[in-house]
Amino acid sequence: MSEIEDLLREDLRGQTAYGAPQLDVPVQLNTNENAFAIPDDVAAVIEEYISREIRGLNRYPDRDALALREDLAAYLGHGLTPSQVWAANGSNEILQQLLQAFGGPGRTVLGFMPSYSMHPLLARGTGTNFVDALRDADYTLSPGHVGWAIEAHDPDLVFLVSPNNPTGTALDPAVVDAAYEASRGIVVVDEAYAEFARDASSTALGRLEGRPRLVVTRTMSKAFAFAGARVGYLAADAELIEKLLLVRLPYHLSSLTQAAARGALACAPQLQAEVDELKHQRDRIVKNLRAKGLPVADSDANFVLVGGLVDAAAVWKAVLDQGVLVRDVGLPGRLRITAGTEEETTALLDAFEIVMKQEP
Ligand code: PMP
Repeated sequence: MSEIEDLLREDLRGQTAYGAPQLDVPVQLNTNENAFAIPDDVAAVIEEYISREIRGLNRYPDRDALALREDLAAYLGHGLTPSQVWAANGSNEILQQLLQAFGGPGRTVLGFMPSYSMHPLLARGTGTNFVDALRDADYTLSPGHVGWAIEAHDPDLVFLVSPNNPTGTALDPAVVDAAYEASRGIVVVDEAYAEFARDASSTALGRLEGRPRLVVTRTMSKAFAFAGARVGYLAADAELIEKLLLVRLPYHLSSLTQAAARGALACAPQLQAEVDELKHQRDRIVKNLRAKGLPVADSDANFVLVGGLVDAAAVWKAVLDQGVLVRDVGLPGRLRITAGTEEETTALLDAFEIVMKQEP
């Protein structure tokens, strides 16, 4: 063990960092980004918002991001007020703040894997014990299973994900209710991909009223095509949000980020104009791969999980050799594929066609 490894926190020794490969290939369908660049007219609006901030950069930003929270509340609707919305650098930071405030050493967060790989890593980073209660073979979750798992583990936080990454599975709203009723702790519904759901009413936002321990997390990284700006947010009870101020870094969200996000929100319909196209490409992948006899989970996100591969790592590499990067999420026989533009999706399907002929 090196001297540095020796000095490291014991629970971090020998661990590996989050690392989706970032390879320079023509078709990148590996990180569930939005395939469409920001259109020129929207870029001009965002530039305007940002440029207004530049001369004032000698000052710290609005610590509480009030104007941005107003815009986010208006975007979310459901009667939410700015005091019920909070923003940070990506929903990863939002989730981290929730764990810092309500998890930590001696506390437990319950998740249902396979799910978002950062949840256990964020738990580890905050010293929170992560317990995995798994899910059904078709990746769904039932109210009964979730209720049982909560009773068995008595967690301080529960992480639900809808639509779930990497499976694309949307959650039956009855599961959120069951989790809330069974739990004494914070129930988080990670809705990073909500805008891609086939049934828009499946969001948990409408369930926040009267449920002060319920939190819905969202991001601008996916439907808003804004992953590079790093803006995530949550909707929850105002008192819960006040407690997050205990752990957030002062001035955590830069003036430039707040301005860029406000500019993007002012153009929400134009930015989300391609969501329907991405859903169409997602459904095209599902249909095409199923026609090849491969099992593909129903997806409400901008990606699909394909199974039935004899050697997923070999298929990943062979598809990469065709210039298409997808994601090996470490599930035996399965790969995750992000829906791209029509051309990218065609390239993906062509690559799969060639590779499947070679698969043993
Ligand atoms: N939650 C889920 C389920 C995700 O898949 C992701 C991104 N891959 C995130 C949260 C984090 O997104 P961001 O930090 O970009 O908002």
